Amino acid sequence: MSGVPTEADVVVIGSGVVGAACAYELALALQRVVVVDRGHLTAGTTASGEGNILVSDKPPGPELDLARASATRWRDYAGELARGFEYEPKGGVVVAPDEAQRAGLLDLVAQHRDVGLTVDVVEGTDLRLLEPHLARDLDLAAHYPDDAQVQPVLASSALLAEVRDLGGDVVGDCEVLGFDHDADGRVTAVRTTRGTIACGAVVNAAGPWSPAVARLAGTDLPVRPRKGTLLVTEPLPRLVHHKVYEAGYVDTLTADTTTAQVSAVVESTAAGTILLGSSRELAGFDPTVDVAVVRRIAARAVRLFPVLADAALLRTYVGFRPWVPDHLPIVGEDPLVRGLWHATGHEGAGIGLAPATAQLVRAGITATPAPCDPLPFRVSRPSLAAAAAPVVPA
Ligand SMILES: Cc1cc2nc3c(=O)[nH]c(=O)nc-3n(C[C@H](O)[C@H](O)[C@H](O)COP(=O)(O)OP(=O)(O)OC[C@H]3O[C@@H](n4cnc5c(N)ncnc54)[C@H](O)[C@@H]3O)c2cc1C
Repeated sequence: MSGVPTEADVVVIGSGVVGAACAYELALALQRVVVVDRGHLTAGTTASGEGNILVSDKPPGPELDLARASATRWRDYAGELARGFEYEPKGGVVVAPDEAQRAGLLDLVAQHRDVGLTVDVVEGTDLRLLEPHLARDLDLAAHYPDDAQVQPVLASSALLAEVRDLGGDVVGDCEVLGFDHDADGRVTAVRTTRGTIACGAVVNAAGPWSPAVARLAGTDLPVRPRKGTLLVTEPLPRLVHHKVYEAGYVDTLTADTTTAQVSAVVESTAAGTILLGSSRELAGFDPTVDVAVVRRIAARAVRLFPVLADAALLRTYVGFRPWVPDHLPIVGEDPLVRGLWHATGHEGAGIGLAPATAQLVRAGITATPAPCDPLPFRVSRPSLAAAAAPVVPA
């Protein structure tokens, strides 16, 4: 087994989309970066994601600020990175299958307009032009042209390739086992299965496994896995043109239950498959695909697109979103372990939020301007401390 470089400015733990983006932004800032991952590269939660870059599902507040900065940076990446990653600025269409969802949707649209987000309410023929196969009785939707989509594994791989091109190292099959600290408790090195890397800073981008990494450094994080199930159809002609989801999806983001909640999200991919999601369930790292949940997701998708009733499924799988009780990512230096930066807890939005998260980390480590206010995401925020004793499975 080959070793790791013995020195770095920054060691990034995790090669998912968040770690890859952090490594790229740091490498652009002339930091000597080493990315380590205990498994195959980008094979964690990132490989389970649908790849949506959404502004439409976030009410005004810090997460929307992070999402808008990220959406802009994803657009830059599409022109900046040497390798393609199926960036599609296709826009999102949010539909309301019942009266309650309709009221919620129109309320969110009004809030979005107040903060300058581009959104159109579309009805009748205009809606049919956007999505010709939508169920006939769905007669009102909100169209968000700034929603986009990437292929998450390709996107992360493209970022990691740039890191290598900029002189950094990316090492798979390399598990972090512990840390060395100086007399003040500051991290000075990362110990791995392939050797020790002396460093000035560490980024914990281990997604739902970030609490375990934090504990290796003598601290903790209230991040827990939130299970999600996804269905993938056979390749089909283009039946779905945008990211289409039901308005009630937004409520499932903050409803924290240990039983599966299902809400329809539907989008096509460049390969022709259609992704049908999704479920949310605080059930620990349980990898079981629950057939009842699969049926519920399929039924919700067919409710939006009856044409999908005859589509065959290629596969179904589950992934584990890094969930945080106050529903905001954790981005910043650990107040107890100097030199340890966390970039985690993005739940179902880590792909969308990765670029601005990485810019926040880069800004903190290199003392350069941040893309948005970092304070709402800090490790020591009161809402996170209040949630320090989670009641859900670890
Ligand atoms: C079904 C589903 C659909 C989703 N859809 C979307 C979507 O459309 N849009 C969106 O924005 N987000 C979506 N998400 C969420 C998104 O996938 C995650 O927020 C994001 O991938 C998290 O990325 P990450 O880099 O933080 O974590 P991961 O991708 O999980 O990366 C963490 C890495 O850390 C490594 N690691 C762990 N411990 C160690 C250790 N001790 N040493 C070394 N390496 C270690 C792991 O091997 C792993 O590769 C979805 C998630 C699911 C489950």
